[in-house]
Amino acid sequence: MEYWKEEIETLSRPALEQLQVRRLQETLARASHSPFYKRMFAKKGIDAGSVRSLDDLKTLPFTTKDDLRNNYPYGFAAIPLKDCVRLHSSSGTTGNPTVVLHSRRDIDEWAEQVARCMYMVGLRDTDVFQNTSGYGMFTGGLGFQYGAERLGALTVPAAAGNTKRQIKFIKDFGTTCLHIIPSYAMRLAEVMHEEGIDSHETRLRVLCIGAEPHSEEQRRRIEQMLGVKAYNCFGMSEMNGPGVAFECTEQNGLHIWEDYVVAEIVDPHTLEPVVDGEVGELVLTTINREAMPLLRYRTRDLTRFLPGSCPCGRTHRRLSRFQGRSDDMIILKGVNLFPVQIETILMQFPELGGNYFITLETVGASDEMLVEVELSELFTDDYSVLQALARDVSRRLRDELLLTPRLKLVARGSLPVQEGKAVRVKDLRKII
Ligand code: AMP
Ligand code: ZN
Repeated sequence: MEYWKEEIETLSRPALEQLQVRRLQETLARASHSPFYKRMFAKKGIDAGSVRSLDDLKTLPFTTKDDLRNNYPYGFAAIPLKDCVRLHSSSGTTGNPTVVLHSRRDIDEWAEQVARCMYMVGLRDTDVFQNTSGYGMFTGGLGFQYGAERLGALTVPAAAGNTKRQIKFIKDFGTTCLHIIPSYAMRLAEVMHEEGIDSHETRLRVLCIGAEPHSEEQRRRIEQMLGVKAYNCFGMSEMNGPGVAFECTEQNGLHIWEDYVVAEIVDPHTLEPVVDGEVGELVLTTINREAMPLLRYRTRDLTRFLPGSCPCGRTHRRLSRFQGRSDDMIILKGVNLFPVQIETILMQFPELGGNYFITLETVGASDEMLVEVELSELFTDDYSVLQALARDVSRRLRDELLLTPRLKLVARGSLPVQEGKAVRVKDLRKII
């Protein structure tokens, strides 16, 4: 087995936890210089000595996205701005955006973190890496750029959009690896097919897919369509960006890098730790960041720890594929469900394409769900075949969701495609 930095990736659990405690103490000392934590620490009687074990971390208050917004732009800066070299901001839909600051060392560590992930999935300095993320404030651009350069790959900073140009680059430059949002990977595969390009004849072999929830079925479909291995990568701007957790070649859970963050999983309602192995909200504390430490940050992302050790030999724990964010949960007629559950069913039908859209609406006195899904290229216009297909899909949805959505099969290419993260749900329900 080859590692980017073997000593840290395979560090024994006791040594890793010892390192975490030491870094936590350093983090608390640093955080006490930020206006936000200075106030919090004074109010709650917290100081750098408050955490002597990982268990003590649980006594600290949580930090939320609202805290970031309310202290926009520099209320979390723990070092002077003259020592910061980068700012990333994520806009959000309401209120102030959030800001994350980085020192030179932070940027350097982040590059190491992403390089470690890329090496883990078999990428080397001989690879040609094409990044289809928007550059600028979105961290998937510069985050992967610096990581891939640290790895030594030849980088193609294609940035977002212009699918035909992306395909030309893949062919002309011999791209071996793409960083791409899963919904866009499906689109790219379709356009390649339409253009009559067989992806197996390109050098493409690895995809890093992330930034939005997706199902195992969608991953398999992307792999088949493009003839590649696709690895799930997870990150968020508040935790730098990409590289927080990443699948290894086992494709069974994402290693969360515990020399960078301390991860907890809590019940989103009680905020108490869940029983080990149960699904809950991921809470992260940065322990390797200078400019802007965050303590017990509530990510809103729902996942669980996978039990046991990974055959790859890495000791950093694994998280299961993300279900979505707690705010993505649909509550319909008392049933709780996530869009990826619907996706999981749809993707099992080869007659269906990858693009789907869920509308929640009030019909008469009742709330209903409409699922529109595109047909794949196996499309037929035989009405009775389509009807039989619709019946089958509806039955599978009902069995899985315990409610019966209205289903509409639509022609390929008729649902909207976003340039960034896919928007899958529209809620038009009236409060009656
Ligand atoms: P941003 O800060 O704009 O990069 O968005 C980060 C958010 O994207 C996370 O909090 C997750 O909700 C979502 N996200 C990122 N990567 C993944 C992934 N691999 N699977 C599911 N959701 C993801
Ligand atoms: Zn592994």
